[in-house]
Amino acid sequence: MIQLRNVSRRYGERTAVNAVDLDIPGNTIYGIIGKSGAGKSTLIRLISLLEKPDSGEIRFGEDRVDNLTGDALIGQRRKIGMIFQNFNLFGSRTAGGNIAYPLEISGKPRKETERRVQELLELVGLEGRGNAPVSTLSGGQKQRVAIARALAVEPDILFCDEATSALDPQTTRSILELLKNLQKNMNLSIVMITHQMEVVRDACRSVAVLDEGKIAETGLVADIFSRP
Ligand code: ADP
Ligand code: ADP
Repeated sequence: MIQLRNVSRRYGERTAVNAVDLDIPGNTIYGIIGKSGAGKSTLIRLISLLEKPDSGEIRFGEDRVDNLTGDALIGQRRKIGMIFQNFNLFGSRTAGGNIAYPLEISGKPRKETERRVQELLELVGLEGRGNAPVSTLSGGQKQRVAIARALAVEPDILFCDEATSALDPQTTRSILELLKNLQKNMNLSIVMITHQMEVVRDACRSVAVLDEGKIAETGLVADIFSRP
């Protein structure tokens, strides 16, 4: 569903992403794993259309997306939701206020926004917590708010950039459980970028291993992790 062909991105002398070919299938949880500095964040910024490659092509389905500008770029970007290690929530807003934000921006009427926020709170297991200031929530709850906010405008793809790296093992498992359920029930594709092997093993079907800006290996998690 997402296709990269010969994609490169350089910063000065440094080639952060080097001639990458990658096919990320839809309707699954796909992992991208690699050490710090391997190029994971750069790859994500390219695929999420926040940055343009120096060369190569990126497609969503049939649509070429790496060279878009203006409204066409905004339209494709709407297909992507993102969550991060440090949650990136608005600290001065409530849980509900955070989730409402993308709906407000897209001009949804207030009644509809409120209804949708309630739905989303329920979806991520935070019913009744809409009025809680973000500062009073635990890390796991904050990530649930971030997931709800990312899904508010119904993206096709959810990118998770080290989304569980700041969480303890038990909370990590509960967030991965939520993501697995959302993927199954919502016709959602999830791409997980992580340096945590156990996260890939728990949640992903297939994985790409990134090393020094290049794809070192791709395959089914079951195959790659079953090797002696
Ligand atoms: P990862 O997310 O796997 O840790 P990054 O994509 O952040 O890797 O970085 C890959 C390489 O590209 C690193 O050597 C990093 O220093 C370099 N790099 C990434 N972003 C920038 C930037 N904006 N300016 C300069 N160098 C960068
Ligand atoms: P904040 O103080 O966090 O900015 P507001 O109370 O101003 O939050 O709410 C902003 C919008 O967020 C509201 O207009 C509403 O649409 C939505 N919202 C906030 N909390 C909730 C909630 N508990 N349930 C439903 N919608 C909510």
